[in-house]
Amino acid sequence: MTSSSRLTADRVLVTSAALADGTADAFTPDVSLLAEGGVITRIWTGEDPPSVEGATVVDGSGATLVPGLVDSHAHVSLPGGARWVEHGFDPLGELLAVGEENGEMMVRAGIRWARDVGSPRRDRRAAALTLRDRWRGNPERPYLRAAGTWISRRGAMPPGLTVEIEHAADLVAAVRGQLDDGADLVKLYLDGPDADAAPFSVAEVAAAVDVVHARGAKVAAHATAQAGTRLAAAAGVDSLEHGNEIDGDTAALMASKGVTLVSTLAVAESWLTFGRDGAAEMRETMRASVRAADAAGVTIAAGSDAGGGSLRANQLAWEVQSLIEAGVSPRTALAAVTWRGGDLLGIPGAGRLAVGGPAHFSLVHGDPLTDPAALWRVWLTR
Ligand SMILES: [Zn+2]
Repeated sequence: MTSSSRLTADRVLVTSAALADGTADAFTPDVSLLAEGGVITRIWTGEDPPSVEGATVVDGSGATLVPGLVDSHAHVSLPGGARWVEHGFDPLGELLAVGEENGEMMVRAGIRWARDVGSPRRDRRAAALTLRDRWRGNPERPYLRAAGTWISRRGAMPPGLTVEIEHAADLVAAVRGQLDDGADLVKLYLDGPDADAAPFSVAEVAAAVDVVHARGAKVAAHATAQAGTRLAAAAGVDSLEHGNEIDGDTAALMASKGVTLVSTLAVAESWLTFGRDGAAEMRETMRASVRAADAAGVTIAAGSDAGGGSLRANQLAWEVQSLIEAGVSPRTALAAVTWRGGDLLGIPGAGRLAVGGPAHFSLVHGDPLTDPAALWRVWLTR
């Protein structure tokens, strides 16, 4: 596949754009940027646009440069919608076809990196691992790091969807199994069959985290209810996904242990339209939870939960809007889908606009720091 966008030229000069990248509270005007061979090689500021011999010039005036976005919580093999769980049982061909559709939508929306935090397995192979391997080196698809399949306590998820742990003693073996099967990170599902009870002990999860870290990988822990949220924080996982019920104590524990929160607030926004009971209350609880984490100094990255919730793969911008509506600063919200996500992925330069870094960026219209809907208005992207 090839792109006909001028922006994807091997040597491209973007002139006279504004720049907003989540490292400052306001955009920078009059920025020009040179990308050569997939790398950003120069960034200028100033009213007079530079000229570079042999470069394809894109007049960026009137547009805003933003880094390639990072979706820290997506399920690329699944379509989303109101029946997202049922689609986990779709045949492999359907999962892969949906994955290709999602990958294309993500790139068009300016999403260049994603963490896949759980996909169904067929013949022991998680669909997202197949997509990750297929997409490697393809500029028309996002760079994917994939968790393989969810590991959960039996009874917490519908049977047959996850790696189900009957006895806690089997947790470490399950974690090793996912890494052996090719997962880049491990996804633990820490809501239990009984939402009020943690599904494992802190020592059990901490032991699993040690095993994953020893293999150079990270642990992403799903927890929505308070019990699992506290467990994830106390066990020192790398990221707490959703974290719908974080109180002040848990937030302080997360900050002290360096646990990143991956917010998925837009899921509650989406629920409002298809009659999930308590969606409006849930949204308020989730907003308060993010505010508690932010106030405690917890690092916030963000995800769409596309496919594993009702959102679609090209809707990460909704999460930025939702974070700001919850009371997080626009800078923190933009950072959450750019460089904070890149840091969580552990990929140098991901989600940043810097000389020497990967030349993935979009030209959007409007100021994402005062008008986050600007992220929906993608003109060109590479
Ligand atoms: Zn999810």
